[in-house]
Amino acid sequence: MSTLAVSALRRVGRFSAYWRGGELDVTQERARPAWAGSTRRDRLPPNWDELRAAKDAENPEHVCHRCGLPGGSELDHLLAGDDHRLDNLDWIHNRADYLAGRSRENCHGKKSGAEGAAALAAIRRRPPDIHPALR
Ligand SMILES: [Zn+2]
Repeated sequence: MSTLAVSALRRVGRFSAYWRGGELDVTQERARPAWAGSTRRDRLPPNWDELRAAKDAENPEHVCHRCGLPGGSELDHLLAGDDHRLDNLDWIHNRADYLAGRSRENCHGKKSGAEGAAALAAIRRRPPDIHPALR
């Protein structure tokens, strides 16, 4: 592997690579998908299956709340967070739905990407912290 490739691995942050005895050692982290550190599944309520069943009965076509086409296979939180009330849940297309032709895009991916960008923008808009000694 070239030095350029190693620095690229370091840059993406999901890998840690270093030279050991002249051999490249890439840790096992390469097998981890991007969401592996997420606690999302752990934070879902114990009655998640019941909530899914209720939303399935309410919207059997699984019409996607983002694009309006049927066939969304993921239950999404309209307002991001841990509000699991039925009013805050609705179906949305995921990447598999998009690849299967049920939607024109990965609606959940687009929505989450927009939420992430908004969160990042909010952090960047925050005024810089003032050192305690200067307050
Ligand atoms: Zn959709």
